Amino acid sequence: MRLKIVGSGGMFQIPNPFCKCPICEEARTKRGKYERLGPSIYIEDIQMLIDTPEDIGVACDRQGISEIKYLSISHKDPDHTRGMRIVEPLGYDCIADRGTSIQFIALPEVVDDINAWNGDGLYYYQNILHCISITKTDYIKIGNIEIHLVNNKTHRGNMTFYVISDRNKKAIYACCDVKPFVHNELYFDADVLIVGLVSDDGILKGGNLLKNAPFKDDMFTVDEIMEIKHKYRIKQIIVTHIDEYWGKSYADYQKVEETLENVSFAYDGMEIVL
Ligand SMILES: [Zn+2]
Ligand SMILES: [Zn+2]
Repeated sequence: MRLKIVGSGGMFQIPNPFCKCPICEEARTKRGKYERLGPSIYIEDIQMLIDTPEDIGVACDRQGISEIKYLSISHKDPDHTRGMRIVEPLGYDCIADRGTSIQFIALPEVVDDINAWNGDGLYYYQNILHCISITKTDYIKIGNIEIHLVNNKTHRGNMTFYVISDRNKKAIYACCDVKPFVHNELYFDADVLIVGLVSDDGILKGGNLLKNAPFKDDMFTVDEIMEIKHKYRIKQIIVTHIDEYWGKSYADYQKVEETLENVSFAYDGMEIVL
């Protein structure tokens, strides 16, 4: 199984065009792994993209992703949906006024959420432009790749965790709304958990403390993520959905990685081969 982190950022890209903080300024100078676009992942084996942040077109171009046969969106939030117009350059021929259906796969409740938040966006693309074909499901098998779409349903609503298997290899993609982490037997013995919203030290941009932030209960500490790792006997953790307001650079995370066992921090273009 080959996965690629298309974008490792969170709600706001790094550099945030309106920010002069040291992290954004450094990213402007160094570019490459110091930049982060919105959160998404690509399953190379089946050419499937998960999530469409608003900069997904730029992210695909940067990462050399030129074909998408399957598309999924994890949940309704803007940082995962507002680039869904990517289905137009993918599947709609403006000159011929004709669509070519891309398979859109998502949990039924997530499809309803996305449409409630985005003015019938998905149905517009399916029924008017005919550039997607929606399959509402919690399981799909494409070739050797099996995907369970698990609803990590919490007080924040419906959120899809993807359990992606290729014969005896297993990856979990749980990028957003991760806490509380609802128990599921499918998570046991995964090779990798790619997980969002993890704070390495509880300190945010400008030295502000996470414990004073409104989203303090939405983020895992490293200790909490290690508990999940041990409970489910997961071999490796990769942290993604790394927000600009966490105030850390690529180099900062490289130092953190040295202190932790089998935990790494994603960057745009990171390849995961299982
Ligand atoms: Zn900044
Ligand atoms: Zn998010």
